[in-house]
This record gives sequence, C-alpha cells and structure tokens, in this order.
Amino acid sequence: MKITYPHMGSLNMILKTMFEGIGVEVIDPPPSTNKTLTLGVRNSHEFACLPFKINVGNFIEALDRGADTIIMLGGIGPCRFGYYGQVQREILKDLGYDFKMIIVDPPHGRLIDFLKELASYFPNVDGKTALKSFVFAVKKMIAADKLEKFLLKYRAHEDKPGVTTKIYEEYMKKLEKAQNGKEVDKIVSEAMKKIKENANVRRKIQLKVALVGEIYMLLEPFTNMDISKSLNELGVEVTKTEYLSDYLINSAFKLPQRMEFKKNARGYLERDIGGHGLNTVANTVKYAKLNYDGVIHILPFTCTPEIVAQGIIAKISRDYNIPVMSLVYDENTGQAGYQTRLEAFVDLLYRKRMEVIC
Ligand code: SF4
Repeated sequence: MKITYPHMGSLNMILKTMFEGIGVEVIDPPPSTNKTLTLGVRNSHEFACLPFKINVGNFIEALDRGADTIIMLGGIGPCRFGYYGQVQREILKDLGYDFKMIIVDPPHGRLIDFLKELASYFPNVDGKTALKSFVFAVKKMIAADKLEKFLLKYRAHEDKPGVTTKIYEEYMKKLEKAQNGKEVDKIVSEAMKKIKENANVRRKIQLKVALVGEIYMLLEPFTNMDISKSLNELGVEVTKTEYLSDYLINSAFKLPQRMEFKKNARGYLERDIGGHGLNTVANTVKYAKLNYDGVIHILPFTCTPEIVAQGIIAKISRDYNIPVMSLVYDENTGQAGYQTRLEAFVDLLYRKRMEVIC
C-alpha cells in the first residue's frame, strides 16, 4: 500500500507521521501550486468549491507519483464536504486511475469507533503500535499549531524582514523529522526562542486582526495566498480562528467548543448551518468583544455556509463598530488585487485607531 492524502496546512506532516509509524509507505503530494490548481479545475465541476478542486489536483499529482490509496475525511451535514470523497473517487476513476479510496467519517465524540474504523483498513498492524503512532502524530499536530500561533503574533514585530519565516520553516522541517516527544518539545521551545529574539520592533499602534471563515481556506496558505504573512508584513498581529488540532480534538472528545460557538452566536444565528458557518459568526462576535481592530472573513466562491455567515457578520460589524472585510477566493483570484485590498483595510484600521487616540 502506498497511501496519500490532500494538503491542508500541516495535515500532511501529521498523517505522514501516523502512517510511517505503522509501517505504511506514504506518497506525499507535492506542495500545492498553480499546476495543482489547474489540474483540479480542469477535472472538477465548474461550481465545485475551491478546496474540492485543489484536493483533486493533489490526488492526481500523488497518483502520478505512484500512490495507490487515498485517505479522505467524509462528513455529514448540510454542506458539500460530506460527498467530496465519493465524487472525487468517481472523477479519478473516470480519468483511468487505479486506486483504493478510504473515506473515514470524523469522530464526532466517538473517538474509539473512529480509531477502530481506521484500524480496520490496516489489519496487519497491532493495536499498540497504531495507538502509539496516533498519539505521537497528535502531539506533532499540537506542536505545529502552537508554533504557528506564535509565528502569527511575533512576525508582525520582526526587525529583519523574512528572518522569522525562515526560522519557522527550518523548525517545521525539524518537526517533521522528529522521532519522539522530547525532540518535539525541544524543537518548539528553540523555535519560539529564536522567533522572539527577532521580534524587536515596537509600534505606537499595534493592530490585531482575527481571520475567520471556512476551515480549509484558513489552514492552507497556498489557497489563501498566505494572507497571514501579508498581514504580518504590514505590521499586523494575526489570530487565526481555526486550527487542525482544535478541530480534531474537539471532534474527537466532543468538547464544549460547540456550546461556546452557540453561546457567542446567540442573537445572530441559532443553529448550525453546515461547514464552519456557525464558527465564523461566533468568532466574529468573540473577537469584536475582545476589542480586536478588525476581522477578515475568507471563503471560497459558492460556499453556502460562509455566504450565509457573510450576511450575518455585516450586522455584527455594525453592532460592535468593528471593520469586517470578506475575501472570496476562486481559481481566478489574483494576488495583486487582494494585496491592494489588504493594504487599504489595514490603512483604515490605523486611521480608526488614530481617531481614538486623537
Ligand atoms: S464549507 Fe463551503 S467550501 Fe467547505 S466543503 Fe462546505 S461548501 Fe465547500
């Protein structure tokens, strides 16, 4: 078996750790590029959402490199993600690829059932080894997210441009190769120390922006054109509101995060609307209450849950007097146009703060 998966932030590192830990050969799809996007767009329905198309591109590139098995998350609920795997399987079969597709539903509080289902696809692996690999992969996932949260805060203060990103990338590579928990802890603390040492710029006005929206768009820098980096380079601290570790840990143990979302969204949205629409509304309220300077909402073109959320957060913006900007992405989105919008938005936030100070 040569297994592959789609790119989604640090997901590839986590799955690679887990599968290699149980002795399964992994074929990493090459990092997403314009070629990936072109392959996905050419072979998907025009109105499929952008993450779907990029997944298809990832799979084609990985199958061309020799992968024979794809693992994909399934799902339930009023959003297209639930049938991504099935439709992608048919597209790839029609293209002539010979492979097996494993579609696993998220745990939704049933972690043991989830692990059992996963294990059933690998009958020759003993339970102890599988559990050890899973736990180690989760540790790496939490470490990767911790490091990214740190990066998005401190890169806004770097005094040597580009150095923080280099440190981060260097340590993410080390994290990928780490063999045990001790190594992981050492890598994270060393990286955080180095990032902090390069963060010396003190500004009179320090802006904070929360990024809300569809989870794939938030997690995958190629797809969102590395919006966090662009904002950091404009001197803005960024808080991303979706992380893989939060999503999976909450889904695994049914932690009260969902209750928190419902509580924060109360008065604006009373029910789940599929995808991460409820989270978007709840997080906009949350960061408005925390006095953030602005919220940027990112969503793929034709994403129904986020389109519903978009209408609601306009009201939150008025109620809390917090600037909100929605950025809609598809395969025709151009970097230059978005950069101009980001610069104009940040300029607006500075002016708003100046008014408060003067
Ligand atoms: S949340 Fe939106 S982009 Fe994501 S799968 Fe559902 S419809 Fe598509």
